[in-house]
Amino acid sequence: MDRVPVDADLRVECLSNVFAAGGCARILIDGVRPSVMSCQHGRPMGRYAGNNNVCDAYGLEMLPLEIDWYTTICDLGP
Ligand SMILES: Cc1cc2nc3c(=O)[nH]c(=O)nc-3n(C[C@H](O)[C@H](O)[C@H](O)COP(=O)(O)OP(=O)(O)OC[C@H]3O[C@@H](n4cnc5c(N)ncnc54)[C@H](O)[C@@H]3O)c2cc1C
Repeated sequence: MDRVPVDADLRVECLSNVFAAGGCARILIDGVRPSVMSCQHGRPMGRYAGNNNVCDAYGLEMLPLEIDWYTTICDLGP
């Protein structure tokens, strides 16, 4: 199952009145690599999506997602 593509404001592409964040959402974090399904990206995405949802309701300017670090997690197993 794939993830829901979102724009920089965390709006679901083609559904501008729906926001998505966290593991179910997919965005290119640095323009190249996709967001990872972890707390590292899920937590700030949730904050931006919540903020932007309220901004959308009140006609305020939204904040485009900005996460200026990217970590690759390597699981070496047991
Ligand atoms: C075993 C395990 C260990 C992990 N360890 C780490 C770690 O060490 N570090 C790290 O960064 N990440 C870790 N992760 C990943 C991290 O947990 C997820 O990236 C993060 O929880 C995603 O958050 P989310 O809010 O997007 O989704 P979720 O936390 O999955 O929240 C989604 C919520 O939506 C609810 N839901 C689903 N369908 C419906 C519905 N139809 N109606 C209403 N509610 C619904 C679910 O019950 C759930 O509460 C781990 C994941 C797992 C499974």
